[in-house]
Amino acid sequence: MNPRRQGRNKSAPRRSKAAESIHRRIQGLVRSLLSRDGSEAISGLPESLDLHLQIPIHLHEDRIAHSRKFSEDLMKQVDALRTEGEIELHGHRSGHALCYWCQQTDCEHSLPENGHTVLTGWSPTGLPVWKNITNFLLAEAPELLDYLHGDTLKPFAVLVDESDLLAEVLPQYLEGTQFSHPLAALVVGGFPLQLPNYEIDHLSLTALVQETRTARGIPRYRWNFISTPPKPFHLASLLGQEDTSHLARWISALRALLVGLQEEIEARAREGKRMPMKECRQRVFQTLREAQSILGAYNRRKDRKTLHALERGEDPQRPTSAAISDVLASKRQDLFLDRRESTVIVRGPNSRVHVFTQNGIHVTSARYSPDSIANRIQRKRWVPMEDSDFLRFHTEIKNRVGDSGDQRSAEGS
Ligand SMILES: [Zn+2]
Repeated sequence: MNPRRQGRNKSAPRRSKAAESIHRRIQGLVRSLLSRDGSEAISGLPESLDLHLQIPIHLHEDRIAHSRKFSEDLMKQVDALRTEGEIELHGHRSGHALCYWCQQTDCEHSLPENGHTVLTGWSPTGLPVWKNITNFLLAEAPELLDYLHGDTLKPFAVLVDESDLLAEVLPQYLEGTQFSHPLAALVVGGFPLQLPNYEIDHLSLTALVQETRTARGIPRYRWNFISTPPKPFHLASLLGQEDTSHLARWISALRALLVGLQEEIEARAREGKRMPMKECRQRVFQTLREAQSILGAYNRRKDRKTLHALERGEDPQRPTSAAISDVLASKRQDLFLDRRESTVIVRGPNSRVHVFTQNGIHVTSARYSPDSIANRIQRKRWVPMEDSDFLRFHTEIKNRVGDSGDQRSAEGS
């Protein structure tokens, strides 16, 4: 007998070209899976991965379903290990918000619902709080509503700092967490997104700065970009270097800014002139403001809110002043449902367009060009209202006018 057949001869191990080729193929697959969302995560992984593979022994059947299952299992395992390595290394999982309630980065609470949802902070029990971008702006930065609901989309970024992000969370939910600390965020919106059917949508995202410390106590800052873009888009590709959109270019500037700061912090530490924690954080905020100013349209939560709300109310030239009277004078053919934003559109005289939530809260008013009005109707983004919806909306508005002195004064002007 050929001794090699026995397979017990350890001094001369049997080689199989097929097995080696399978190994190389798996290696290639792992490499492509690991670098899928940027190559950073690779350095957090162990030397090798233990995989659990099931090989069917129905040797005379070539069932494609078996191969598919094998492929799915393999990809799932590599993906899970990649996530584990990433969390180990960064203390966060890219594209997910940490849920302090579950102490997890991949529970059902960790992801925004859709491309209009942003992270605005955490609840008292540590659940991530997700909000529709319009509702966020209504509450925090109403002067930016025009950027989303005006005639044309304009990108913007609102700064939300630590004191707002984690302020509500009860201390027992934050204690002893092994995860990185969300220091600040830019709530970003108004970036146009062209859908495969040529409709234009817009994308919102949360750019979170996560803070960890190295073993030597040097702070380390990383971006975590969180968004759920509509299908078929994939966030990593939308933000990646292959994309030349305004969004991708801005994100690349954001990355460069933070990498620059990180290098400075580490260089100072190497020289023995460590940057104090307070200064590090101040520099992060400076970086965020720089990122906002590159965008050209920026804002800080709270600070300017009251001022702008006042300006909006006092400017008689703004179409806002006419919102309520235009609604009350409107006929059914003046009202539309905006299918993209789920808002109610009221067309007034002189190209005035008023935007309301469906329960009658005034979002914004602007003058739209006749072309863009015609375009929205033609493309069926604005669809006519049913009689019943029209009556219900009118009733909502009348009730609100009855309740609120604010809106009554708007009606009179
Ligand atoms: Zn959770």
